[in-house]
Amino acid sequence: MELKQLLKEKFGYESFRKNQHDIINDLIHQKDVLAMLPTGGGKSLLYQFSGLLLPGLVVIVSPLLSLMEDQVEQLRAFGEKRVIALNSFRSFEQKKHLLQNLQSYKYIFVSPEMLQNQFLIQKLSQVKVSLFVVDEAHCISQWGHDFRPEYKALGEIKERLLNPTVLALTATATENVRNEIISTLKLDFVQTYIESVNRENIAIHIEHIESEEEKIEQLIYYVKHLNGPGIIYCGTRSMCENISRIVNESMNCRVAYYHGGMDQEQRILIQQQFIQNQIDLIVCTSAFGMGINKPNVRFVIHLGYPSNIENYLQEIGRAGRDGEPSVAILFVSENDHDLPLRLIEDELLSMFQLESFFSYVKKLNESIILLTDHLIANWKATFQFSDIQWQTLFNELNKSNIIEDNQLFTDRVNMHFLKELERMINERRNVKYVKLKSMKDFLASTTCYRENYLSVFNESLTSRPINCCNHCGFSFEQYFSNVSNKSKDDVYTYSWEEDLRKKLGL
Ligand code: ADP
Ligand code: MG
Repeated sequence: MELKQLLKEKFGYESFRKNQHDIINDLIHQKDVLAMLPTGGGKSLLYQFSGLLLPGLVVIVSPLLSLMEDQVEQLRAFGEKRVIALNSFRSFEQKKHLLQNLQSYKYIFVSPEMLQNQFLIQKLSQVKVSLFVVDEAHCISQWGHDFRPEYKALGEIKERLLNPTVLALTATATENVRNEIISTLKLDFVQTYIESVNRENIAIHIEHIESEEEKIEQLIYYVKHLNGPGIIYCGTRSMCENISRIVNESMNCRVAYYHGGMDQEQRILIQQQFIQNQIDLIVCTSAFGMGINKPNVRFVIHLGYPSNIENYLQEIGRAGRDGEPSVAILFVSENDHDLPLRLIEDELLSMFQLESFFSYVKKLNESIILLTDHLIANWKATFQFSDIQWQTLFNELNKSNIIEDNQLFTDRVNMHFLKELERMINERRNVKYVKLKSMKDFLASTTCYRENYLSVFNESLTSRPINCCNHCGFSFEQYFSNVSNKSKDDVYTYSWEEDLRKKLGL
């Protein structure tokens, strides 16, 4: 059967998007692929489709729980029942059952943490894995904006799965990051598909503002006038809650906040409500949005700025996935410069944390400590290790054989290790500072913002969209709705149910 016919029959799409056909063709001929396609470019289809034509399992590594559940739902909506997500939501019994019946599945979504489970790896290596998908592959890179230490192990895991074909996916990765993805995943002969990071349908507006009051005023003005739905990014959790309240008090619109301090279930609920158009406006921290598949977001507003351009592009890229005109607004004031610095420090292990941790461990006077989930949770709480900090430390301990088979050998902790760790942390800090500098240069630029961000990816602008950025000049009118005080029922016409029916070809 022709690929195009299968696309229509199985997915209800008329044609392939740019590069989809060629990539799928490579994958079914067992060629490894690195694909950098823009947010909304249709990366999921690449493995969804290829899986149908490959004999064995498709294993998809995905960094976020909510993302996984979303993808599972999507495949089910296409009529695929042989799909499951393996994550902490599954009960022990469910996991056991799944592991005993691996061969009855086609698509398995796993978190990278899950893949540290030796038993799972062993089980997976006993069935044939045809395709190993690394979603959000930039998480592999130390130079990337969203480094996940667990991703580092994926190259070895691939080998233990007997070298299935690899598909590495990302929307934003600089050349350095792409190279690190290739080397970490040990992709010797890889086909690369790199699309432009330019999102032509998203106009950019950046405004330097004196006071916080004025910022809020401007925010309310824009939110009242702009066509929704929209996303507002704030720097902190408390700010999310405050802004959400202020918006709620100022106008008639369905608004909710979302941040990492909320329960997993609560977060998934809010995200689903937003996707299904039951909420018009999300006020959130950067914890929101990775991989969410909502086509009709019309604006993204930043109060303050992310600590690097990749994150900025990821965040504004959540607008206009349907290709329709959308706008990204960023307000920056003097007060905003501290937060990115603080975020950088928060992510890095501090020497204080490390020294207190190791002196505690030494004092326990046990040469071997068995690492249980309970113990790790305890340590995280005591030494205030965030997930990413603990993962970083765990990885380094593993690499230096201080941790082996989930046991920590306290005698092996020495000065050399600590020095090496310190050097690594400093290096990571430098990388982050360089990225922050380029974000600030971007904000301060007096020429086209679009050309500016493209240059970070070694790209140049080939044709300027009519609505480019406020340095090139564009009019806001077309993004404004005529209804300034929005009523709850009649503003957004996009129907989720209709979209689904279309997808199912009904
Ligand atoms: P991303 O590249 O950000 O991961 P997704 O894979 O989530 O993007 O796809 C975004 C949307 O595009 C989804 O709703 C998907 O169903 C749709 N899509 C993907 N490929 C096609 C296609 N060939 N034709 C029409 N819609 C498509
Ligand atoms: Mg995706």
